[in-house]
Amino acid sequence: MAVYKAPRGTHDIFGQLALALEKLDMISRKMFKKHNFKEVKTPIFEDVNLFTRSIGESTDIVEKEMYVFEDRKGRKLALRPEGTASLVRAYIEHNFNQTEPVGKFFYSGEMFRYERPQAGRYRQFSQMGAEYLGNPSPNADAEIILAASEILKALGIKDIKIHLNSLGCSSCRAGFRQKLVEYFSSIDDLCEDCRRRLEKNPLRLLDCKIDAAKFQNVPTMQECLCSDCKTHFEQVQNLLKSAECEYEINHKLVRGLDYYTRTVFEIRSASVGSQDALCAGGRYDNLVEELGGMKVPSVGFALGCERVLMAAEKNGFFNGLNDGEIVFIAVADQELFYHAFAFSNKLLTNKDNIADALGFNGNIIIEGPFNDKSLKSQFKLADRLGAKKTVIFGKNEFDNGKIVIKDMVTKEQKEVLYKN
Ligand code: AMP
Repeated sequence: MAVYKAPRGTHDIFGQLALALEKLDMISRKMFKKHNFKEVKTPIFEDVNLFTRSIGESTDIVEKEMYVFEDRKGRKLALRPEGTASLVRAYIEHNFNQTEPVGKFFYSGEMFRYERPQAGRYRQFSQMGAEYLGNPSPNADAEIILAASEILKALGIKDIKIHLNSLGCSSCRAGFRQKLVEYFSSIDDLCEDCRRRLEKNPLRLLDCKIDAAKFQNVPTMQECLCSDCKTHFEQVQNLLKSAECEYEINHKLVRGLDYYTRTVFEIRSASVGSQDALCAGGRYDNLVEELGGMKVPSVGFALGCERVLMAAEKNGFFNGLNDGEIVFIAVADQELFYHAFAFSNKLLTNKDNIADALGFNGNIIIEGPFNDKSLKSQFKLADRLGAKKTVIFGKNEFDNGKIVIKDMVTKEQKEVLYKN
């Protein structure tokens, strides 16, 4: 028989990780909603051209990382490698510009990229992201950056650094591109990727890991920003300062997707190794128009759930994770099994406020009863499950209208009145 394993770069999520992911989801949703971002769920696959068009032909994602397939009718589809393109497609398709007074949205879900797997880099991974559409003002950039960092802080991640840069607009970026082409052309031994990208996408050379050491005194975008882009960038920084948000300017931050204009940022954590970007985003003033909509200047971010959890775990996020306290229902006398079963059901539905009446407060998890185990093995199971309380159905007590509640920590037992 063949032994099947999860495909390379994917993983099963269970146990503590599943609980941590649920907690992350809850905390970030709360934060998104506080900022008035509304949820949009988009399909996991889309027309491949949506991604090629938006992310850019000469990006890593489009060149070598997309999962592309044809359906039975020959439609060319791709598993989504990121969330922004789909959200913008939905925005245009449903005329959100007319129905939503403020274009603030969030999404969460699985993304797919055919990358070389390593710690913090997978072929299937989860992102949560927010997009602010239709607001050209620096306030929107600042709100997006602050929302992202608030989520990371709410997860207890302390060592975060915000890297900030501006890529300018299409007019000032042309001058920067020219300067970069001249600069990089004077370097002899560029790696193969850099040589190939030099004409098409010279900005990408700035984040080449192989050639990084060869690039000294590289021209910066700051020198080339037009006055509008410069003012915008300064205002974003002033707003961040007014919110007491620390950041550093990183001239080499260009991001791997072509749609960005003006502000780009990454939030990194030193505690997660080489894949240190927990979250990334920026402004995309032309994307909606490029995908067939109107001119809708926008800004957004995505955070990678797996990486964020790696950083959060280092900061104690996994401590004390549980679904609630287990109440185990044991039967000392199998004659009472049906009564115990009915009791368990009452407790599950909290019929007649029975849980409160018996003092089971907060999140309780109900396990049992079992009709195929001795009392000894029921107690063993209750211990293995870490049950906090065990309710025991014993003949003598039950005949007197009572059941026994045993505190599994103190081992104390008390009889309480119970009628079914
Ligand atoms: P991007 O969509 O490339 O801007 O990435 C946004 C965030 O998603 C990154 O900062 C990472 O946290 C996460 N991310 C991107 N690619 C991967 C991957 N292959 N595996 C795990 N997380 C990823």
